Amino acid sequence: MEKVIIVGSGCAGLTAAIYAARANLSPLVLEGPQPGGQLSTTTLVENFPGFQDGIDGPQLILNMHAQAEKFGARFSYAEVTDFDMSNEHVRVKADDEWLDTKALIIASGASARHLGLEDEEKLIGHGLTSCATCDGAFYKNVPVCVIGGGDSAAEESLFLTRFASKVYLIHRRDQMRASKIMQGRVFANKKIDPIWNSIVTNYMTDEKGEMRAVRLRNVKTNKETELAVACVFVAIGHDPNTKAYQGKLETDPEGYLIARNLAQSKHPGVFIAGDVSDRVYKQAVTAAGMGCAAAIDAERYLSELESHG
Ligand code: NAP
Repeated sequence: MEKVIIVGSGCAGLTAAIYAARANLSPLVLEGPQPGGQLSTTTLVENFPGFQDGIDGPQLILNMHAQAEKFGARFSYAEVTDFDMSNEHVRVKADDEWLDTKALIIASGASARHLGLEDEEKLIGHGLTSCATCDGAFYKNVPVCVIGGGDSAAEESLFLTRFASKVYLIHRRDQMRASKIMQGRVFANKKIDPIWNSIVTNYMTDEKGEMRAVRLRNVKTNKETELAVACVFVAIGHDPNTKAYQGKLETDPEGYLIARNLAQSKHPGVFIAGDVSDRVYKQAVTAAGMGCAAAIDAERYLSELESHG
């Protein structure tokens, strides 16, 4: 029987781990399929308080991991695929093994969304990706495109200008939703060519099955065109990782877990933190704050359990 299990090892999960470990709860962190979460695939983080000159996302995550470990958090690469709260204690199924815990903090984050086009799965790794930091360097001196109009699309585009000959930024509207500072950088970069009011309707491959072009449709004129690109970077947002909890914990129509008072679920002993329940802010610092709240709530819950014998 664990005292605290934390599902997820992104900013929310690791902050929860630091707080729970410092409360002597020796939490077990199940790192999941993407250890480190979204920050582990990003570049410079310039808006995390305390880092005046910015800090690389992967480094920030490594620091948090080491900080949690220093205070006694334990880590396992296991992925949670099921959840059960029908018994006295909450249980999660991690890599085929059921683990019992007195308190559970769900910080499983969110995963990159794809367009849902035909053959999409097959193309991942063959010119279709959602991680510029992972794959950008493979595309030197060739044209690439980024789909999306948010901060991620802006960040990916800027990063890709280090390698690609041209970065087309394809957005379905004629205005980005990215922050003004990121928009300013995008528009000032001559290597980035925005293509407005356009959606990708097809991915086109060469004889080896590698991406060679995208088919575009202008949503205002309905005109279709083909754009030669060696790789497509999809940056159209994320979906919460809540498959294991669907139908068991409260979710909104988009699948985000519903939290009360920041980090509490309806079920005693189950706490929620970070992007898995945040459809609004989705920032590293808000995820960290929610992770902190979840750990404090879990600690109080466990103290009460103990005092009631
Ligand atoms: P986002 O802000 O939700 O933006 C998603 C973009 O993709 C939007 O422009 C959206 O278009 C477009 N989109 C969504 N579904 C689409 C579809 N099916 N087809 C075509 N386009 C589609 O997501 P994000 O950029 O990943 O950012 C998520 C959060 O993380 C935000 O709060 C952001 O501020 C934060 N973030 C911050 C930084 C930073 O501060 N440096 C970096 C990355 C992310 P519409 O605009 O038309 O809706």
